[in-house]
Amino acid sequence: MFKLIRTRIHQGYKTCNYPGKEVTLHPAFKGLPRLNLNCDQNIVEKCAASCPQDAIDPGTRLIDLGRCVFCGLCERISKGEFIRFTNNFELAATQRDHLITDGNLPDIAANAKKRFKDLFGRSLQLRQVSAGGCNACEADTNVLNTPFYDLSRFGIQFVASPRHADGLHVTGPVTRNMARALLMTYEAVPSPKLVIAAGSCAISGGPFRGSPEIIPLETLLPVDLYIPGCPPHPMTTLNALIRYFKER
Ligand code: SF4
Repeated sequence: MFKLIRTRIHQGYKTCNYPGKEVTLHPAFKGLPRLNLNCDQNIVEKCAASCPQDAIDPGTRLIDLGRCVFCGLCERISKGEFIRFTNNFELAATQRDHLITDGNLPDIAANAKKRFKDLFGRSLQLRQVSAGGCNACEADTNVLNTPFYDLSRFGIQFVASPRHADGLHVTGPVTRNMARALLMTYEAVPSPKLVIAAGSCAISGGPFRGSPEIIPLETLLPVDLYIPGCPPHPMTTLNALIRYFKER
């Protein structure tokens, strides 16, 4: 017991000071991309043709962060000439079309619904719904409750019952088998309520886009906040929640 207490004292305070102090992720992390709009068209077309997610439009030369799974193939193919991923984890958006970008995303704090800030800025309870996910998004959401991120210090918690929640945090493509459960969970959340689409699958269907076995989330529920990634890094989620609900 004493050994345990001594070890704990030795470990000290582990919670990050974000957003008071910036957090720098490992250089290998693929975050917000920067696109070179003056790149040779042949290279752009090669990247678009190779993208497993059809996330690059060779005509507009924009990338859809709602489809991208951040595999880095386009960066490798273009040798960084067309797309270069930075380790900026600020990827969220309030509208689906904002995610189709050259690397400049609109400010989510400025685009967030004011009434949600007023209502949930100090206390936000979310019900997580895995609507058919592979558990990567769910696992990286769970990490937010560890001492390093300590999500509850911001008054944000994941709760077991939708009746105690202010909104849903949806992960995974919505499979036909989960659609009814998702809708029933949404119905059980008292109004006013919000919906967060987290991860490529929830936003666009991910690798399952176009499958008859899934139903696009946006055709079922109104989405208020999009958090890209495959899975979204916990810092991406933390940043999105703080900026959307707390910053004025
Ligand atoms: S990083 Fe994204 S845009 Fe590039 S090839 Fe992979 S899925 Fe496509």
